[in-house]
Amino acid sequence: MYKTPKEHNYTLFISFDLDIDSAEHYKNADPISISRGRFAAKRGLYKVLKTLRKYGVKVTFFVPGWVAVNYPHLIKLIIDEGHEVAAHGYIHERLDEFKDIFYEEQLFNRMINSIAVFAGYKPLGFRAPYWRFSNNTLSILMKKGFLYDSSLMDDEYPYVITMNEYSIVELPVDWRLDDWPYLEYYRTLTPRELLEMWLEEIKYAEENHGYVSLTMHPQCIGRGARIRVLEEILSYAIKTNAWIPTGKELAERVVKPISH
Ligand SMILES: [Zn+2]
Repeated sequence: MYKTPKEHNYTLFISFDLDIDSAEHYKNADPISISRGRFAAKRGLYKVLKTLRKYGVKVTFFVPGWVAVNYPHLIKLIIDEGHEVAAHGYIHERLDEFKDIFYEEQLFNRMINSIAVFAGYKPLGFRAPYWRFSNNTLSILMKKGFLYDSSLMDDEYPYVITMNEYSIVELPVDWRLDDWPYLEYYRTLTPRELLEMWLEEIKYAEENHGYVSLTMHPQCIGRGARIRVLEEILSYAIKTNAWIPTGKELAERVVKPISH
């Protein structure tokens, strides 16, 4: 069973998916849709980084390989500020459309290599674009030596998945704890309502020494006044003594829980 380090009250895993315009290029989208993605590269990411810097928090950015190739200066910026770069597909593919393991393995090689060139290290973590796996994705991740994945939704705590001689740490997620459906796709909540819902989850974790995973996108949460959601979450988390690890730090704790 996962346990937050004893010097903290609960665990808050904050991560960002830096899609920029990768998904739009994969879908051959129109120029306006592409421009909406590019907002992340022009403005959104900078606002997110500034807010993280203000609170002294280091997090994980899940980045498609194509984004690393096309926006290498942003990868450098993220690394220079001490954040972790993990992988998020090559060009934001839907992996459930991959029926052939050979092509999916080729895709993973391309993704790993392009992140490694621009981040300076092989990614240890992975998050599936659209949170969709093929039947082969999990075994490919294990065979490629990933330390952790952050795509599955079957628990409220991090845990280890074992398959034959392989294992991987899972940092589970939830659509309710993602900014995209509420603010971009269905647009059903205002930022203030989203903040209220997320704070409710955080307070529940705080009372139960629990774990919350929040997924955000710089092109979404970085737009206009929405950045205040991130600002208020961080302010509350620091005030209430949350542990805010990177994906790597969290996964290492799951693998070696007795270290403290
Ligand atoms: Zn994504």
